[in-house]
Amino acid sequence: AKSFGIHGALQQLGVRLENPGTSTGSKTFGSGEYFSSHSPVDGQLIGKVTQTTVDEYAKVMEKASSAFLEWRLLPAPQRGEIVRRFGEKLRELKEPLGKLVSYEMGKSYQEGLGEVQEMIDICDFAVGLSRQLHGLTMHSERPGHRMYEQYHPLGIVGIISAFNFPVAVWAWNTALAWVCGDVCVWKPSEKTPLCGIACQNIIADVLKKNNLPEGISCLINGDYKVGEMMTADQHIPLVSATGSIRMGKIVAQAVAARLGKSLLELGGNNAIIVTPDADIKMTVIGAVFGAVGTAGQRCTSTRRLIVHESMYDRVKNAIVDAYKQLKIGNPLDENMHVGPLIDTDAVAMYEASLRKVVQEGGKVLVEGEVLNGAGFESGCYVKPAIVEAENSYETVQEETFAPILYLLKYSGNVENAIAQQNGVVQGLSSAIMTNNLREAERFLSVAGSDCGIANVNIGTSGAEIGGAFGGEKETGGGRESGSDAWKIYMRRQTNTINYTTELPLAQGIKFNL
Ligand code: NAD
Repeated sequence: AKSFGIHGALQQLGVRLENPGTSTGSKTFGSGEYFSSHSPVDGQLIGKVTQTTVDEYAKVMEKASSAFLEWRLLPAPQRGEIVRRFGEKLRELKEPLGKLVSYEMGKSYQEGLGEVQEMIDICDFAVGLSRQLHGLTMHSERPGHRMYEQYHPLGIVGIISAFNFPVAVWAWNTALAWVCGDVCVWKPSEKTPLCGIACQNIIADVLKKNNLPEGISCLINGDYKVGEMMTADQHIPLVSATGSIRMGKIVAQAVAARLGKSLLELGGNNAIIVTPDADIKMTVIGAVFGAVGTAGQRCTSTRRLIVHESMYDRVKNAIVDAYKQLKIGNPLDENMHVGPLIDTDAVAMYEASLRKVVQEGGKVLVEGEVLNGAGFESGCYVKPAIVEAENSYETVQEETFAPILYLLKYSGNVENAIAQQNGVVQGLSSAIMTNNLREAERFLSVAGSDCGIANVNIGTSGAEIGGAFGGEKETGGGRESGSDAWKIYMRRQTNTINYTTELPLAQGIKFNL
């Protein structure tokens, strides 16, 4: 880590050994208990952060509420200009922030940089969007009336994020919410709190330099109990939560109980269908990257490969061969393909899934293993595994956040593969590998994939910020990022203006005064 320059990066980002975990901008609070962040790369303590107390949370809400009253009055393109400056600052700090993401979360440095690039891209997108927050006009049925709709900011947006994209998910939400005129309160994952501190320092600096009020961007820290302060709080009209389905079910109910809105980005169980017309080379690249990239800890990671029986042995042998070449180790070293899992709890879940799938009848093709010895002191490094399985197994139905790939077989036509692909509770990402137009179109048709993302001749992993991102069924139904995802951060108002001297009543009702 030393040669990687993590200490210099932390310094540039203003992250210290002990950090107040609550912030409304340039004001920070730290009266709560400290919790620690250890790197899964080498097990070293990186820093500590205080947990947000109930009193501190109340202060944050007070600042956010009053900041909203000012921020909403700034014309949207001027808010876009602030987001543009934020994007510029991210360009300057891309390397140190990418390093922190990599060291605190355990993904490769390239992926860490890629995550910061996503933040920059969504800022650019939001700047353009700030001049396009448009509604429709429609013809009124009443003479001398004009009818149109407009979008106004919502207020305070609460953001709860997962460990695996410790900075990008926040930016996907905030860049849009800010141009829409909202203010944001963020609770990062308790597994990656220092990424949260670093991001908040960056935006706080931008807001201060532009003489904007405290509270446009706020940070709170801690575990689910701190998250619950937001889900229960009627002053937060929208809670955007990214994480497990288990968490999403609790958050959705808490927010719905007070009739608030939630935007849920939950777990996936993503499959690639490999048909007799697939390009094997592209299939292997897409499947291996999708299954082992970020050590299988992406919401869009490939978990199931559904292969036609006529191709099955060829695909199986090619993938098993490719796994032999995988290098597992320090993700800061560019020669490594697979880094660590986030913590030893995740390692225990990986082991439990591998044990259970064998009990259910699965046949192990590439053995899993927890690595130890020099370079693996953190106890978080595991070998990517491949198991021949059936779609109906409990283990295959669940999302295990680790590099385990299930090989499934189908026979007959592509409908049978689509049935397996759709035969899970999650609905995030999906893909088909085929050069057959009929199969591809069938996969994308009304009777095709039921996921929020459906790709042809690309794997399941990753997405561009220009499209709306999210999934169906137990993935939660939320959409973030591009297209018209911005609409959830605003409230729609229908306006009718009467420019006559008559007031015709609806349904021809006469009301003589
Ligand atoms: P997690 O559910 O354990 O935690 C996510 C966040 O929710 C954390 O900040 C946590 O503190 C908070 N939280 C947990 N319980 C809460 C409660 N009752 N009230 C309020 N907040 C609560 O998830 P994780 O392990 O950090 O992340 C992995 C999961 O996230 C995977 O399932 C993955 O698929 C999913 N994910 C989905 C997307 C997507 O866009 N669909 C993106 C990234 C990750």
